Amino acid sequence: MIYLDYAATTPVNEEVLKTFYDISKSYIGNPNSTHKLGQEAKSCLDLSTKKIAEILKVKESEIIYTSGATEANNLAIKGIANEYKRYGKHIISTYLEHSSVTGPLTALQNQGFEIDYVDVLDNGLVDLEHLKELLREDTILVSIGYVDSEVGIKQDINEIGKILLSYPNCFFHVDATQAIGKIPVSFENIDLISFAPHKFYGLNGIGILIKKENVLLEPLIHGGISTTIFRSGTPNLALIASAEKAISLANMDIENKYQYVKNLNQRLQQSLKEYSKVRINSTDKSIPYILNISIKGISTTNFQKELENYDIYVSTKSACCAPNTPSRPVYAITKDRKLALSTLRISLSHYTTMEDIDTFLDCFDKCYKKLVK
Ligand code: PLP
Repeated sequence: MIYLDYAATTPVNEEVLKTFYDISKSYIGNPNSTHKLGQEAKSCLDLSTKKIAEILKVKESEIIYTSGATEANNLAIKGIANEYKRYGKHIISTYLEHSSVTGPLTALQNQGFEIDYVDVLDNGLVDLEHLKELLREDTILVSIGYVDSEVGIKQDINEIGKILLSYPNCFFHVDATQAIGKIPVSFENIDLISFAPHKFYGLNGIGILIKKENVLLEPLIHGGISTTIFRSGTPNLALIASAEKAISLANMDIENKYQYVKNLNQRLQQSLKEYSKVRINSTDKSIPYILNISIKGISTTNFQKELENYDIYVSTKSACCAPNTPSRPVYAITKDRKLALSTLRISLSHYTTMEDIDTFLDCFDKCYKKLVK
């Protein structure tokens, strides 16, 4: 079996799973209970939060635990919009975003918010001049992903953050779900960052929203105080501890893993470029963990199924996208609907071997010869 869909989710790391098991067995109390068992659980929880804060270089009070990146994105976007709508109802985002960003934006649009989408350049980077043109006094939120999930474009988040400094009523949300654990992430000039450990060998079912201290949010889920007032519910101690383990493991050796994956990606690109009907959609601004291609004139859903016959797993788009619709990020970059309808996303890991890549290329060749006329 060759798994090349690591951008969708990753196999859980043994140590992470063990942490989940050990903590679940060791602590039976609710961290918010005032008795001894509760307080023991709370100490364990606080220690995990402290370690996560240290690794990410944020304050403990800035960490909000959610059920995943989808909830973190919803909380950030709807939370800001509903808390600060007195300053304006204008929001800016991009066509590269994951459905967990575009979904809440559409919901807000239906409630009377105005959403503008900033253009992207041919290399996939946000057009900063267009962003400056779109920004207004009543813009309350800009939401841009650090790395998009389909083409893997890494945005110049720092530059965007600097531009937004001139707009004190405008908050900057960054969906860093495809960035954290793969590349070093700077939190400078960002108000809100979301991500989920299942993208880097953590468990599914937990996400994190980092919210700068001075920023307020209207909660999505109302109830009692949990670890913060912004998201209620009994804190999931074992998932939080496993998230801490996943974050610390992912940050180890991050540069070497990146270089290793870059070599795999180069090998893939070199070979795939030779096919006349293949177009590489990822650009020099893409991170090597994601390689997006189009195979002109064929159904990549069929191609994906054909690869599956060889026990090889890739995706056509982001796992959360509606099937048989064009890829919005690929369309935004290429402006070509046919290319956007025939995408294949190959996503890599430091666990992928060069032999895996060679086997993939071999099988790709067989599928191509069968399906492309
Ligand atoms: N944001 C991006 C960029 C993603 O790739 C994903 C997952 O595919 C999400 C958000 C949603 O993450 P989750 O599955 O944890 O809700």
